[in-house]
Amino acid sequence: MEQRFICSNLSDGPNGHLFFAGQDTVSLAEKYGTPLYLMDEDLIRAKCRLFRRCLEKYFGGHGNILYASKAASFKRIYEIMREEDMCVDVVSPGEIYTALKAGFPLEKAWFHSNNKSDEDIAFALDHGIGYFVAESFEELNAIDSAAAERGIRQKVLLRITPGIDTHTFEAVDTGKVDSKFGYAIETGQAEEFLRLALSLDNIELQGLHCHVGSQLFDSDVFIRSARIMLDFMSHVRDIYGFEAQQLNLGGGFGVPYVMSDPKPDIDKIMKETAEEIHRLCEKHRLKIPDIGFEPGRSMVADAGLTLYTVGMVKKIPGFINYVSVDGGMTDNPRFALYGAEYTVLPADRMDESRNMVCSIVGRCCESGDVIQPSVPMPEGMERGSLVAVCTTGAYNYSMASNYNRIGRPPIVMLSGGESYVAVRRENLDDMLMLDE
Ligand SMILES: *Cc1c(COP(=O)(O)O)cnc(C)c1O
Repeated sequence: MEQRFICSNLSDGPNGHLFFAGQDTVSLAEKYGTPLYLMDEDLIRAKCRLFRRCLEKYFGGHGNILYASKAASFKRIYEIMREEDMCVDVVSPGEIYTALKAGFPLEKAWFHSNNKSDEDIAFALDHGIGYFVAESFEELNAIDSAAAERGIRQKVLLRITPGIDTHTFEAVDTGKVDSKFGYAIETGQAEEFLRLALSLDNIELQGLHCHVGSQLFDSDVFIRSARIMLDFMSHVRDIYGFEAQQLNLGGGFGVPYVMSDPKPDIDKIMKETAEEIHRLCEKHRLKIPDIGFEPGRSMVADAGLTLYTVGMVKKIPGFINYVSVDGGMTDNPRFALYGAEYTVLPADRMDESRNMVCSIVGRCCESGDVIQPSVPMPEGMERGSLVAVCTTGAYNYSMASNYNRIGRPPIVMLSGGESYVAVRRENLDDMLMLDE
């Protein structure tokens, strides 16, 4: 059967209304107002279980699935991750604090970031972070001294750059030799980094980490990184007698945003990657390390949908049509940043034919404030109509800003036919909260 919708949780309801997670988006917009982020909690939980089941099947459960929480970070999501028995990765004291307030056990958190300050390191150590993923010589030395002051040995992984070009967006392509993340094997710096880690008394080196990019649709890149990393592991075992207990292959599982995007098969990617890892470990006579994966986008993207109300439809004869909505680059900067594609639907006019091509633009004072160009919409769209932008669960709320002093939309969670507010709407007083 031909797939009608970009996400499995979308459907047509009565009166031309778009349904999301089995609920009427028009009623949700009436109840909570717009702009509005909706999140399908049941789908997020299903994703947790899918990844964990694959880890069980293909790695005998020896490893960890870490939700890369920068994709969408708010208290409720860490509660869900705790309930689903997931691990998380965090990249700042803000994310650590949010996880902590959600009761998330921090020993199951990995601390990333290419530039952790002394304050960040102290904060993470004082709250009992499980692991650091160290990215520089400076950072390793700083963790060592801070751990020494506290009389502890801190578990650390080293961020290694396997030197793979994934050919996705420049901004999310992180595995090349000249990346700002980690050290490359090719230049010899990765080995020097490992030597330093082994020499520091208060560092307990647990293993290696790499993350080469995002929007990966098959196992190819995971297999290539695994190969390079396991070669390196075998090399450092031979030279230094160091056997890594953990190998974290990062995240980057792709998500379709428009119908022409491939549909990745997570189970197949994990299966093929596991087969290669087993083969290589046997070849190198390495004990199979605990394998980590860090999905961010694929955990939450299609669990999200943004609803907007149309304010104006402007038809410029012979040129372009504009449909302005009540949000914009403040709640979804991804087209402005990367030219990211989205599927946009007329949430209250799904039964009308879409014969007006228009640019969906935001309310910010900036021509670049475009949600999506060249979208087919019904001719009858007018002030008050509802627009849905699909697949906005990842890197939308977490990248949102208050540009133009526009408040961020609330996040409403949908589960089992019920809805509730997980993050409330920012109001005018919130805009003044920091002003002395
Ligand atoms: C961003 C990031 C991820 C998650 O990437 P996705 O494309 O969202 O799956 C995982 N690991 C690291 C280190 C990252 O920086």
